Amino acid sequence: MQLTVLGSSGSYTLPGRPGSGLLIEAGGVRLWCDAGPGTFEVLCDLADPAQVDAVVVTHRHVDHSVDVLTAFHRFAYGSPQRRGVPLLAPADTLDRLAGFVGADTGHAWFDVFDPEPVGEGKTLELGGVEISFGDAFHSVPAVAVRVEHGGRSLAYTGDTGPEGDWMRLADGVDLLVAEATMLEATGETFPYHMTAADAGRIARSVGAAALMVTHLPPHIDPDVAVQEAESTFDRPVELAVPGSSRKV
Ligand SMILES: [Zn+2]
Repeated sequence: MQLTVLGSSGSYTLPGRPGSGLLIEAGGVRLWCDAGPGTFEVLCDLADPAQVDAVVVTHRHVDHSVDVLTAFHRFAYGSPQRRGVPLLAPADTLDRLAGFVGADTGHAWFDVFDPEPVGEGKTLELGGVEISFGDAFHSVPAVAVRVEHGGRSLAYTGDTGPEGDWMRLADGVDLLVAEATMLEATGETFPYHMTAADAGRIARSVGAAALMVTHLPPHIDPDVAVQEAESTFDRPVELAVPGSSRKV
C-alpha cells in the first residue's frame, strides 16, 4: 500500500498548503480520501485523475469536501469524461454536495458519481481493498476510515475528538493518520478535535505501528505538534507534508 499526502492544512488553507486529502494506492486501486481545497490540483500533479477509482469524503466541512465539486467539473466536462465514480460519504454530506450543484434526477452529477452513504459499521470491498468506516466524534456527521490490503492496514481519523469508539478502526494498524488540530500545551480544548498529545495517546493505546499527524492549522508550529505527539506516543511521529509519499 502506498500513501501520498495531498494536503494537510486544518480548518483553513494558505498558498501551498492545501486542505485535507490523501491518495491511497493498493492492489491497483486508487482511493482519493478527503477532498480539501487544493487537493485536486495536487492529485492531478501526481496521478491521472481519470484513474481515481473512488472518492471518500469524511464529512461535509469545506476543508475536506469542496474539491469534490472541482473534480465534478473535470469529470463531467473534461477529457476523458468519467462516469460512475463511487463517492463514499455520510448521507448528509452527499445531499449537501449534490445540493450545491442543484443536482436532481437526471443531473450529470449522478452520471459522474455513484453516491453511497457510509457510516458506523459499513465495510466495502473495492478491487480486493477493504474499506471500513466508523462514526467519528465531530460537530457534524463524520466518519473515520480503515483501509486494508495484502495484510497491511492504514486508518485515517478525518476530523474527530478523542471520544467515541472510532479508534477501534485503528486497532493494530501499520499507520494511523490522525488529526492534531490543537496543542495540549496551549490549554485549548474543543470536544470535536484532538490535540497532538491526544493523537499520540490514542495511537499508543490502539497499538498503531506508526503515527502521522495531520490537519494542523497554519497557526500551529508543526515541530511543536510533532514533539507533543511523540511525548505521548513514545516513539517518533511523522508529519503529513503535501506531496510526500510513503509505503504502508
Ligand atoms: Zn477539518
